[in-house]
Amino acid sequence: MAKYKFKCSDIGMDCKFTSSAASKEELMPKITEHAGKAHNITEMNDELRKKVNSAVKKSLF
Ligand SMILES: [Zn+2]
Repeated sequence: MAKYKFKCSDIGMDCKFTSSAASKEELMPKITEHAGKAHNITEMNDELRKKVNSAVKKSLF
């Protein structure tokens, strides 16, 4: 099954956080939660959402 992976460092953060989920829909809330806890980002604006979206990679493993 394909997986979607996100690396915080891929959006330019000096951060080792990574997350993965079976779908983008499942992955986004995890990223949002991390952004709030670790980076004090309480609101994902369009620009950030686009950045995150393009940093999410589809993986077969
Ligand atoms: Zn982070």
